[in-house]
Amino acid sequence: MPAIASSKSYRVGRSKTGLGLFATMPIKKGTRIIRYFGPILDSKIPAQDAIENKYLFELNGRWTIDGSVRKNLARYINHSCRPNAESDVRPRERKVFIRAIRNIEPGDEINYDYGTDYFKAYLKPIGCKCESCEKKRKKQRAEARAERAKVKARAERKALKAGAKGASAKKKKLNGKHFGGKVGRAKA
Ligand SMILES: [Zn+2]
Repeated sequence: MPAIASSKSYRVGRSKTGLGLFATMPIKKGTRIIRYFGPILDSKIPAQDAIENKYLFELNGRWTIDGSVRKNLARYINHSCRPNAESDVRPRERKVFIRAIRNIEPGDEINYDYGTDYFKAYLKPIGCKCESCEKKRKKQRAEARAERAKVKARAERKALKAGAKGASAKKKKLNGKHFGGKVGRAKA
């Protein structure tokens, strides 16, 4: 029997993308944190199949949980590509639990991977805002900056070298004249 977190182990709070669910106490890996619940919709009933909102949780080809009800606090859990929880889907029981897959510290935002279909439909077009993707973008920006700096430094070295060549050529010429003069004088 998996451990079940007490109802006070989370709270709704402000996250980067709106609201989110946050741990208020340590949650051990493997713990059931919260149930994702709401009316069960049957895709064979046209009126139920027609319901559209972003809190629909598909259990299988036939059954879907409509998680848009106010009491379903699990609807506040945001997506992450590198989550600390997962959805434990039980189609036969028509239940979904959100379970910790890592130890979660108080203050941590709880998140799970919404899955490929959701990602493609809703997140890819606007760019995923999860911490993992933000970090990746930050790293890419830093790498692009470093690459630009490298190119610039290379160009500057090249310009410096060209300048030095020109200067040393000039110097040689001057030295030659000067030296030649001296030699000339010495010879004379
Ligand atoms: Zn992401």
